[in-house]
Amino acid sequence: MQYPFPVVERSHPSARHIRISVNAGGEVLLTIPRRATKAEARAFLASRVEWVQAQLLKLRTQAPRALSRAPTWDGSDVLPLRGIEMPLRWMPASLARPQVRLGETAIEVFATSGTRAELLTRALKLALMREARIEAEDLLNHEAHRLGLQWRALRIGDPRAQWGSCARDGMVSLSWRLLLAPPEVFRYVVVHELCHLPHPDHSPRFWALVAQQMPDYLQHRDWLKRQGAGLHRWLPARAAAPPTQPDLFA
Ligand SMILES: [Zn+2]
Repeated sequence: MQYPFPVVERSHPSARHIRISVNAGGEVLLTIPRRATKAEARAFLASRVEWVQAQLLKLRTQAPRALSRAPTWDGSDVLPLRGIEMPLRWMPASLARPQVRLGETAIEVFATSGTRAELLTRALKLALMREARIEAEDLLNHEAHRLGLQWRALRIGDPRAQWGSCARDGMVSLSWRLLLAPPEVFRYVVVHELCHLPHPDHSPRFWALVAQQMPDYLQHRDWLKRQGAGLHRWLPARAAAPPTQPDLFA
């Protein structure tokens, strides 16, 4: 039996009954007492699929902020990729570990039907970080060439306070979340950081160089000011503070 949502099964020797619960993260827990078999528990869950779906729907509609947009993996999730909101789908497949496909029209995670939501989300995040690195390297190579500058190393992370930074030795750090933003916004941050190599400040000369490389940079900087904080709501870091207005390039 495959359910239209991820299920976590756990044996509980002291439990008296088979129990189904839906936690705040949208995860479905199936508790199996000692006196019941897995098959019995699964049959019970199969008979309550509609009830579970109603609970999941209630969670999403009543407390959308509480979920903080962590995927529920029930087929209703979306995620922006390069500025375009795409459906996020969990595709049952017999694989040793989840595989992620960042397609043109959908994001698909292939994983066995018993995979926990948390593991699906982790696989997705790792794939997005890998993709962000590939994209960032391309942008850095291209823009550094145009600028006649050299970068040395790249770090992809998830900082809350800034989208990027650049050290004097050519080490560039970028947020993976730039992959969620429109491509020109990602490019703007790369140009911005590279321009810090000759100008490690926000002086008029620095901004003149940015403008020379990207004449329409102001609209992309504005996009980050207006919508950047929203990027932190997707796949939130665990136990993260609520999004604050990020200090752009401190
Ligand atoms: Zn800066």
